[in-house]
Amino acid sequence: MASPGVAAHLAFMTRTRWDSIWLGPNLATFDSNLPGPWGEIADGALAIDGDRIVWLGPVSELPGAPEALAERVRHAHGTWITPGLIDCHTHLVHGGDRIGEWVARLGGRDYDDIAREGGGIMQTVGQTRAASDEELLAGAVSRLTDLARDGVTTVEVKSGYDLTAAGEIRMLDVAHAAGRLAKVQVQGTLLGLHALPAEFEHHRADYVDLVAREMIPAARARGRARQVDAFVEGFAFSAEECERVFEAARVAELGLRVHADQRSDSGGAALAGRWCAASADHLERTSPAGVRAMAEGGCVAVLLPGAYLTLRDDHPPPVQAFRDAGVPFAVATDLNPGSSPVRSLRAAGSLACSLFGLHPSESLAGMTREAARVLGLADRGRLAVGLRADLAVWDVERPEELLYWIGGSPLRDRVVGGVVDERERA
Ligand SMILES: [Zn+2]
Repeated sequence: MASPGVAAHLAFMTRTRWDSIWLGPNLATFDSNLPGPWGEIADGALAIDGDRIVWLGPVSELPGAPEALAERVRHAHGTWITPGLIDCHTHLVHGGDRIGEWVARLGGRDYDDIAREGGGIMQTVGQTRAASDEELLAGAVSRLTDLARDGVTTVEVKSGYDLTAAGEIRMLDVAHAAGRLAKVQVQGTLLGLHALPAEFEHHRADYVDLVAREMIPAARARGRARQVDAFVEGFAFSAEECERVFEAARVAELGLRVHADQRSDSGGAALAGRWCAASADHLERTSPAGVRAMAEGGCVAVLLPGAYLTLRDDHPPPVQAFRDAGVPFAVATDLNPGSSPVRSLRAAGSLACSLFGLHPSESLAGMTREAARVLGLADRGRLAVGLRADLAVWDVERPEELLYWIGGSPLRDRVVGGVVDERERA
């Protein structure tokens, strides 16, 4: 790789002073060209100009005195800076809650039975359709703000709780508005194939057609979705139904995601592999053939331990098989009212270690570099010259500590597009 010093010199020659420089932190770059599990630079410096990272490297290689190089010098000795965390799988726009269902499940009710009887996701669909724009927005801002307070700078938000063309677009509009208010970058995903709405109970093919012919073009035209997701499960949709929708997504040049093999091996991972989807998510019951298909299709395995924990599942995803096949991991909250009421990405990362056996470096890479890959965002997820200056500055002695604690937050500062979010400094 080019020496950081050379990059620095080039950047410095084109401009007299950068906007700011963070002086003294340890940098966990997640740059696979740098050594160690974190791509670590000890006693580092990181310079920002506009919304971009323009220099990083050891303090000793800075091309001048910090005060001469930047308008503002921020002292961060003893901290760790990571890329801003990226939550690549959430359903955080919704009406109501499912606390009653949660209590019923604690009393022995089965999640799949509740879904088949019209509860579960369909309960949230009813509550979301009944909610005003203001109610949806307030809930989404509250949940996004909690994620942000824990170092998250980019969040993927799925539709899927309205299941009409206009309502799905409304959900995505709310997600983007909430992102602006909470100072979080939001990327929308259309999840029309989340559940079959009651009004289509005897017309399944017509609903799949509605998603393919109306929802996808509408989401595309409005610029509200970059990806299309589908829930492949016995009580949701078959792989064949998803393929009809994926064909339309491909025409619209939208990426593909799959909720795969969570409750049964329904062929979701194999579908994701066949279609070279960006990811298959959940994967508790993925077969060896599904793992192979994902490897061949270049899919990322998105692990969602919050749902595994909340549903008291006892069948973890085949993590070692994914490692052996070279399939990378991402980790996300799956923040949703039914199966994963998890409002901290660090907590999800911690659970991925404790429940699924990920190494902390795999888990943190899954909340940064690999999560960016899932979302198709090449401009973030690592610390490198030219990428967005989305950072989290942490009061921790080493990166493992970010996942060691459950609860609390060692976040000192959050930087979004080069701007320090002053709320965290209060
Ligand atoms: Zn989900």
